[in-house]
Amino acid sequence: MRRCVFLDRDDTLIFNRTLPAPADPPSGWKPGDLYDPERVELMPGALKACRGLHDAGFALVIVTNQGCVARGSATIEQVEAVNARVRELLVGEDGGALIERVYYVPYHPNGFVPEYTREHPWRKPQPGMLLAAAEDLDLDLSRSWLIGDMPRDCEAGVNAGLPAAQCLLCGPEGDHATVLDAANVVLGSV
Ligand SMILES: [Mg+2]
Repeated sequence: MRRCVFLDRDDTLIFNRTLPAPADPPSGWKPGDLYDPERVELMPGALKACRGLHDAGFALVIVTNQGCVARGSATIEQVEAVNARVRELLVGEDGGALIERVYYVPYHPNGFVPEYTREHPWRKPQPGMLLAAAEDLDLDLSRSWLIGDMPRDCEAGVNAGLPAAQCLLCGPEGDHATVLDAANVVLGSV
């Protein structure tokens, strides 16, 4: 079984809430709803963090809540296009992809699109995405880590069975300024 670092996407790897509002946002749009792959921009240290973790042998898996689909401000296709762009930017020096898989959850209990308006076991802080990844990719959760920018990210990690000390919060609310600072904690443990 392999060790993994689960990575939140928005405001951990790519800029999100601080992006300026799009010129012509869809109805229901709110800051943080990212539906245009052209607007994807890696945060400082994100590429270096992913390269270091990948080179150290960790599987890298993105786990991201995308309730914007339930709110009608992005489509599944747009979320997947943004995810594809993130993967395209996160490559090793040899051009190989660093992110093994992206899990996202389009559901939200307070949505407007009936099909996606409900609670779902994949929606963080619930652990469903991590548990699915562990099954799909043969991951050892007890030896895996999580890096995110919101308390609910870390809660999802703990709920999946990761040791709390291996769930790291970066950004304004966290103990680590950037994802790279958090990645260095992971790498320091190896
Ligand atoms: Mg986030």
